[in-house]
Parts: sequence; structure tokens; C-alpha cells
Amino acid sequence: MLMTVSASRKFENFSTWFDDLIIRARIADNRFPVKGFIVYMETGAYILEKIKNLLEDLLEKTGHKRMLFPLVTTEELFRREAEHIKGFSGEVFIVSEGREKGAERKLIIRPTSETIIYPMFKLWIRSHADLPLKIHQSVNVYRYETKATRALYRIREIPWNEAHTVHETLREAENQVREAIEIYEKVLKALGISYLILKRPDFDKFAGAVYSIAFDAWNPDGKVNQVATVHNLGKNFSKAFEIEFEKRDGSRGLAYQTCYGFGYSRVLAAIIAQHGDDRGLVLPPIVSPIQVVIIPIPFKGQEEEIMDYASEIKKLLEKKWRTTLDDRKDVTPGEKFYHWELMGVPVRIEVGPKEVAESTVTIARRDTLERVKVRLDELESKVEELMNSIISNLRERSIRMMMGLIGDAKSIDEVKKLLKERRIARIEWCGSVECAEKLKEKAGGEIRGERYDIAERPRNSCIVCGREAKKVVYVARAY
Ligand SMILES: [Zn+2]
Repeated sequence: MLMTVSASRKFENFSTWFDDLIIRARIADNRFPVKGFIVYMETGAYILEKIKNLLEDLLEKTGHKRMLFPLVTTEELFRREAEHIKGFSGEVFIVSEGREKGAERKLIIRPTSETIIYPMFKLWIRSHADLPLKIHQSVNVYRYETKATRALYRIREIPWNEAHTVHETLREAENQVREAIEIYEKVLKALGISYLILKRPDFDKFAGAVYSIAFDAWNPDGKVNQVATVHNLGKNFSKAFEIEFEKRDGSRGLAYQTCYGFGYSRVLAAIIAQHGDDRGLVLPPIVSPIQVVIIPIPFKGQEEEIMDYASEIKKLLEKKWRTTLDDRKDVTPGEKFYHWELMGVPVRIEVGPKEVAESTVTIARRDTLERVKVRLDELESKVEELMNSIISNLRERSIRMMMGLIGDAKSIDEVKKLLKERRIARIEWCGSVECAEKLKEKAGGEIRGERYDIAERPRNSCIVCGREAKKVVYVARAY
């Protein structure tokens, strides 16, 4: 399988393929003169909005209230949770409030919003009756990335959704972690994206969390793309921000918290990278700006008849699908095919003299490029069927690809070899930081964590030190 896919340009030279595609398909322009800040063009901005709608709808159906918090926090608030400040030091943008010399106060622009939201939680939460509290917001956060930036993957202005919850008990916080994972899974599945759900090793958890669960999507260059994370914060932040409440028994105690984030631009990157091919984007129908494009195939003397037939089909389909009739006269059908394949439109309908005469249409699907002829009276049900078939095919194809990328490694050299082949290594590990560091230094990959969704138990010894292995973990390079 790897043989056949490696024929595709995205596997041979991912960077060139990706950078070229995002500009040609009008996803984003990376040439804005401030490093790490990009412009989302019409296709990119549209898809981001659709992803946002999908996620926000699920969050609100599960009781998360939409709020909007300020962009800035103070240095004092930012320093409250010791691990948190350590984790983000050197990565924040700072602005000064006021222009008078000596009078200015430094403000920190949010790299994430715990230190902005939790002082307000302290004011709002009085008793168990105020809990659980679940809020979310879709905003940009800012991180001064020092590694090389890459459009959509590693940028300094990051569009995301963050949710923050407060609970009476640890058990409720645990249940919330599971709910968050289910919500993220639903959105990613609707987009056909495949990923590993990994519990991060302690040294790589979110700054201030008890533990972190992450969604690592596969990428054609072998680097994993972390698209979402879910954190159990325990009482670490409620201690720092004094989020206390009156319990059911009348005593007072600190609340339990969780937070989770979903990176819109990284999910957009995963859609492009996992589904795209040499012809361009291959979009899941649910987010595609145009779902059906109708292309008339002109025939001398029958131009008007064909165009009328095409318009009739548009009227029929636009009730349910975002449909466009490409009636440009100065562009050949071949050029139109090429353009709409680049844009990833899921379904293309061709109508020429034959179709008019037979009351049929020819339908082509973008994911497999297969073409079939269908009768006009069965068109609507056929399009419906195709849309469903396209998303399940994209999902299955992506999972197959990911499974093919994972390989078991019994030594550092084998890890190195797998990473060189742009794959993901599965290893057995003793759990020590020393071995993780040694592995990173010798093989160039990071231990991303152990599976959260299934239990994988070690049978042998740590591939680095030879001591008893405690965990089965995945190793990859990462964005
Ligand atoms: Zn070891």
C-alpha cells in the first residue's frame, strides 16, 4: 500500500505540495509580512467557519455556555500557577498598557485563557449549586513560536476553541474529560480525519495539568499534527485562583477543573493533508463551500437546450446542496474539470447533448474520480448516496493510511529507520525521562504517549535501557 501512495506528490515532497495547494485553492496566503501570521482566503475561511459550527453545536448541546473573555492578562495572574508560567515562558507576546514612560504596565496576550477566565470563576462560584460550570469560546490565541513556522500547522496567531469546566468531584471531572473526547471524536469523524488518541507522558503534559490527552492526526511527511487536547487540571488551578465553593455537607473546598482546546487551523491542515491528492483538495462534503458543480458540455447548435437542462438540474439540487452551475463561456469543460478538482468539490455533474436526449446526467465523485450515468428521476437520491459514500470512503482511506504508517520498533535503530521512512514507531518504554531524551537525541522522534482509547500492554523490555517496560508508546516527529 505504501508503494502506491508514495507515487503521490504529497508523500514525496509534502512542503512543496502543501504550500502550493493552499494558495492555489485559496485556503490561505502565507506572505503576510509578519512571521507566523497568515491570511485566510475565501476557501480557508469558509471551511474554518464550518468546522467551528460543527464543534460549537456539539458543545452547546452538551451544556457548554458560549462566553467571550478578554485578550489580555496581567503578569501577576499569569504567574499564579507555577508550572503554567514555566510551560509558557518565552512563548508569550507582551504589550504595554499606556504610553507614558514609567506609567506603563505590562500585559500578556493570551497563549491560552486559564489565567483570564479563572479569576472570574472565583467570583461566580459560591456553592455546589453553581456547579458544574461549563463554558467555551472560539477565539485566537497567540504564541511566540520559536521553531520554524508553517502555515496552518505552526503559526503565532492560532484560531481555536477552548472550553473550561468546573466540578464538585474528581469523578465528575473525569467524566467531563470523557465527554470532551467524545465531542472531538464526533467532529473529527464527520471530517474523515484519523488520529491517535494518546495520553501524553508526564514530561509533555499541559503546563499545570494532572494529565493531558491529545489527538495526533497523521501527516504525509510522518510528522504528527496535534489537532486537539483535553486536560484534567485537578485542583492545581483552583488552588492558585482560589476557586472555592460550599459543598453539599456545608464544608468548603476547592473545585476540580478541566480544560480542552480544539485547533481549527490544524484541523483544516489535516483535512487538506490527509484527503488531498495530486489534483488538489478533496473536501468532506460537510465543509465544502460548493458541494455540487454542474458543468455543461456545449455542442454546436444545442447550446441553449443544454444550458436550460443544466439550470433545471441546479434548481433541483440547490434545495439541498450548495450547488454551482459553471456557465462560463470562455472556459473549456476540461479547464473547468481541472479547476473544480483543485477546489475539492465532492460531486461533479456533466451534462451534454447525450444526457439531454436521454434525460440522464453523468456524475463524477472527487475522492475516487469514478463516473456513473444516472437517470434524472433518481438524481437526488444518487447525490445523497454519493455524499455519504464519499465521507465514509475518506474516513476509511485515512484510517488505512494511518495503520500503514505505524510500525513496531525493537531498537533505537529501528525507530530511526521508521522515522526516516516518514512513519510512526510503536515501542515499549520503561517510563523514564532519561530514556525518552536519549531516544529523542538518537532517533529524532518524540514519545507522544500511550493509547487512551485501547489498552496496549508491554510484553518485553524498554527498547532504550533494557529494563522492564511499563508502557507501549508511539514515537514520531511532530509539528
Ligand atoms: Zn528505559
